[in-house]
Amino acid sequence: MSVSIPDGLVILTFDDGVKSQKTFAAPILRECGFNATFYITEGLNFLTDKTRYLTWEEVRELRECGFEIGNHTRQHKSVADQSPEELLSDIHHIDHQCNHSGIPLPTTFCYPGYIHTPEAVAALKKRGFTFARRGTAPEYPYHREGGRGPAYHPNQHDPLLVPTTGASGPRWNFDDFAWSLDQAQQGRAAVLTFHGIPDLDHPWVHTEPAFFERCMQHLADNGHRVIALCELTNYITQES
Ligand SMILES: [Zn+2]
Repeated sequence: MSVSIPDGLVILTFDDGVKSQKTFAAPILRECGFNATFYITEGLNFLTDKTRYLTWEEVRELRECGFEIGNHTRQHKSVADQSPEELLSDIHHIDHQCNHSGIPLPTTFCYPGYIHTPEAVAALKKRGFTFARRGTAPEYPYHREGGRGPAYHPNQHDPLLVPTTGASGPRWNFDDFAWSLDQAQQGRAAVLTFHGIPDLDHPWVHTEPAFFERCMQHLADNGHRVIALCELTNYITQES
């Protein structure tokens, strides 16, 4: 496998389908010319609270803006608590909902709650995902309110276990953000994970809007290339 990830490459991901990702974050991304992946689940309060979570129509609109829509399972259950059959059933439900809304079949996946298992990896492989994003652990144990993790390297990481380099939360600050960008060199990409901006339901993954704007401005000012996870295929050449 030969690698062509340029220095400073950032993969931007948003979990849980929180409304503020579309109303607040997406316009900033568009202004900066950034792509990103939005991981959609019908778990949490997605089905009942349409003031705080996206509608499928809004998810479709994000896709029409050019953003990637990824699969974050039907119930947002930890994969450690599901059989492979139940996990695949939950994945297929989101696939179906995407199809129903005119959204292409997701090619990337995100593990709920930053938890992954070898059995889940095997199930994702069976479903045919290109990439799946995990949390910061095991290399960097996660302390629940944001943290640092490894940068993704194609020769080091299974494509179905792409780590989070920067997990935004109340204890993740600008120094942590800058640190994650510093890791994006020598063939490694920095993978950033955000939830709601703000996240009113889950304060432990909350990001302040002003802080988010500062981070995106920094990426733009420093000429970072910011992509969706599915676009990693453009930077990795697989030898047959
Ligand atoms: Zn989630």
